[in-house]
Amino acid sequence: MFDTLSDRLGTVFDRLRGRGALSEQDVRDAMREVRVALLEADVALPVARRFIDSVTEKAVGQDVLRSVTPGQMVVKIVHDELVEMLGGGDGAVAEGLNLAAKPPVVIMMVGLQGSGKTTTTAKLAKWIREKHGKKALMASLDVARPAAQEQLAVLGTQVEVATLPIVQGQQPVDIARRALESARLQAIDVLLLDTAGRLHVDQALMDEMKAVAGVSAPTEVLLVVDSLTGQDAVNVAQSFSGEVPLTGVVLTRMDGDARGGAALSMRHVTGKPIKFAGTGEKLDAIEAFHPGRVADRILG
Ligand code: GDP
Repeated sequence: MFDTLSDRLGTVFDRLRGRGALSEQDVRDAMREVRVALLEADVALPVARRFIDSVTEKAVGQDVLRSVTPGQMVVKIVHDELVEMLGGGDGAVAEGLNLAAKPPVVIMMVGLQGSGKTTTTAKLAKWIREKHGKKALMASLDVARPAAQEQLAVLGTQVEVATLPIVQGQQPVDIARRALESARLQAIDVLLLDTAGRLHVDQALMDEMKAVAGVSAPTEVLLVVDSLTGQDAVNVAQSFSGEVPLTGVVLTRMDGDARGGAALSMRHVTGKPIKFAGTGEKLDAIEAFHPGRVADRILG
């Protein structure tokens, strides 16, 4: 994750740190290199531009250049700005999920087909059971993809979380109603609804998401996107957030994403926090997304 960016920034900042004194021009030259590194990591152009402007302004406008360790201070400014870019600063809820509402708390999972939505639903159910000690129920509303409901049932057995029994032919909104009813009867704390994906964002999908949200009143609506698709992931998030009230994003396949552009652009472009990162195929390969820790990782 972020391998190339981390290497590139490391080279720039080692050089800055190695010098006793820095001129404004030194900072501007370094920031030009940082900008190229960000763009190569597939960060959206306006996001990269804003980042560089903000760092440059802070680095040359204050007493940074006259300090004893100017290089050190510039790196600190970059770190803080990275945290901001990754969604720190405002509302980075600890552990990502808001589970305090009246049970059953509904978590609606949305996203395109193949993004890792069903796997992530099972990962989160396991997380909720193990880390929060809550009783969870999962229901697949995916009647579009053959065997999607069975797939969730198999995963449910693996993570030891119950799944709603399958009723062939039932439509998503009715499944959602039945799931809620079942959750109430069984005193379930958290109900996870795995909605149907599509190959592309289309109106039928959005209408279905809205109808399901309408009957289930979700506390969390989490969009699952594949980080490997880079700027496409950010575009998908933007399309969804215009239609359904997303509360956050889960970025999957971060284990294979050496660039990190989606993670770095998501907050700025969509206004939605990244709440979790998927880091592998195994059902415990999920991490809460902490902007500070990710910035530490990037800056090595
Ligand atoms: P869906 O169509 O969105 O429900 O996608 P699935 O949950 O069926 O996932 C598609 C494939 O992606 C499966 O083979 C998963 O094991 C894999 N997958 C999901 N999340 C991750 C992840 O974070 N890392 C990796 N390496 N693979 C993942």
